[in-house]
Amino acid sequence: MREEQAESGGSFIEQIIREDLVSGKVSKVMTRFPPEPNGYLHIGHAKSICLNFGLAEQFGGECNLRFDDTNPSKEETEYVESIMEDVAWLGFRWANLCFASDYFDQFHEWALELIRAGKAYVDHQTAEEIRKTRGTLTEPGVGSPYRDRPVEENLELFRKMKEGHFGEGECVLRARIDMAHPNLNMRDPVMYRILHQSHYRTGNKWCIYPMYDFAHGYEDAIEGITHSICTLEFEDHRPLYDWFLDNVSVPSRPRQYEFARLNLTYTVMSKRKLLELVSKQFVSGWDDPRMPTISGLRRRGYTPSSIRSFCKKIGVSRANSLVDVELLHHCIRDELNASAPRAMAVLKPLKLVIENYPEGPGEEIEVVVNPESETPSFRKVPFSRELYIERDDFMEDPPKKYFRLSPGSEVRLKHAYIVKCKGFEKDPDGSVVEVRCEYDPRSRGGEAPDGRRIRGTLHWVSAPHAVKAEVRLYDHLFTLRDMDDMEEGTDYKDHLNPRSLEVITGCMVEPYLAKAAPMDRFQFLRRGYFVADPDHTGERPLFNRTVPLKDSWAKEMSKDPR
Ligand code: ATP
Ligand code: MG
Repeated sequence: MREEQAESGGSFIEQIIREDLVSGKVSKVMTRFPPEPNGYLHIGHAKSICLNFGLAEQFGGECNLRFDDTNPSKEETEYVESIMEDVAWLGFRWANLCFASDYFDQFHEWALELIRAGKAYVDHQTAEEIRKTRGTLTEPGVGSPYRDRPVEENLELFRKMKEGHFGEGECVLRARIDMAHPNLNMRDPVMYRILHQSHYRTGNKWCIYPMYDFAHGYEDAIEGITHSICTLEFEDHRPLYDWFLDNVSVPSRPRQYEFARLNLTYTVMSKRKLLELVSKQFVSGWDDPRMPTISGLRRRGYTPSSIRSFCKKIGVSRANSLVDVELLHHCIRDELNASAPRAMAVLKPLKLVIENYPEGPGEEIEVVVNPESETPSFRKVPFSRELYIERDDFMEDPPKKYFRLSPGSEVRLKHAYIVKCKGFEKDPDGSVVEVRCEYDPRSRGGEAPDGRRIRGTLHWVSAPHAVKAEVRLYDHLFTLRDMDDMEEGTDYKDHLNPRSLEVITGCMVEPYLAKAAPMDRFQFLRRGYFVADPDHTGERPLFNRTVPLKDSWAKEMSKDPR
């Protein structure tokens, strides 16, 4: 798909824009990102953000951030603020901050214009009746008994609707288009409904609220949007988008284009579901690091550039598809491999004592901060007679090809010395509590003086210097690869992964890590990439694993015979 795009000079939308600029149909590209403030943004929104802001940037145009806030029942200021924060964090600057609710008066004017032209009417049928008389793909709809009432009566009734004379559901304003239209969206769609609810911005000024299809094109026209980009499910609404724009005097004439929405494996991507996960406390909040939200990914350790790089890699097309979440993991791993300082943290500690190493303060060992960096820098790590290693790096009775520590075996302690296991202690329950070793003092730096081969390398932390930390490991939030494959009769919540979060409280980390600032990122040797949580402090170190080291996506790709 990407190759196709490269050959033909970009995505289909880029080609459309290029043609519009060449033909002079458009002189300056205006796009917009139009979220409804009824939840936090997710990675699917990031695709739309990168697309809209990216196109404006690429073609020397501008992009607005517009809140599509026409439904008072679910919208809140908290969401407005989080959306602004997330868009800015992703690295984009909007030309104008807009609110559809600022256009309510203008929408009302245009509704009057349609009524006066005989193109809209007040209907007293119930929602159920309207649905039933709409017809089907094979049968035309049936006109409402109120469809042909005179203009004056419509104007009067619409005024009464606006002034609060009717209760919710008592009547609606409908466009008068064509009840036999082959496209069901064109069969007299509802323009306004009554909602006696307070809006987070307009308060109680209005009790009639416009429907998306009626309002959206007008929002675009008011802002001078040239290319109004939305997801594929709105393709069938495009004739309606055009009809509303063509039947009143709008200041500009936008065009709608559709692209495929992003779906990711092992997750859901609808705000309604994400909201339910938050409100029913299946997760700790919108920014729970398991959530596909921008704020969740941020807390997980994702960088804005890794998300932008992901959006670029998936490309823009008109074919719906499911993207492997491993590609997202790959993008952050790739970036952190180049940028994250290396450090040592023992997640499940086991004491290791070097019996022939001097008692006392120990020594400092110089380590490279990041071996991938072009200009490597160094820092010092304390080493002493007593260390911690990972519990699973020792086995009393190892299988073949276990190259870690076991009675009599030799391993390298990363950056430090080669040690040989001389024995171990068990507690009364029979679990190993301490491993005894001897070190080879000539192996400082980790190489054997006689060149003997050492196969295993372990990370470690000096016990007297170690700082206790909490670490959180994550797995997919859901167990189903494609959440659209849910069996009938099951709920998406039935597929929550009970092991999506593992909290490890007794980790031992280098003192260097306790000094980290919240949101600092590291590679913990052999354990993956981690970020210091926003709640991290020197006294209570707290790290979230962004991704493990193993890149299963890159592995899959390398299997590809091409
Ligand atoms: P959801 O279905 O998650 O509630 P929505 O489409 O209702 O999303 P909006 O706030 O209306 O959410 O979306 C703002 C913009 O983001 C729209 O232009 C929409 O098309 C786009 N968008 C939403 N979800 C995705 C997705 N998964 N992939 C790409 N774009 C998306
Ligand atoms: Mg929506």
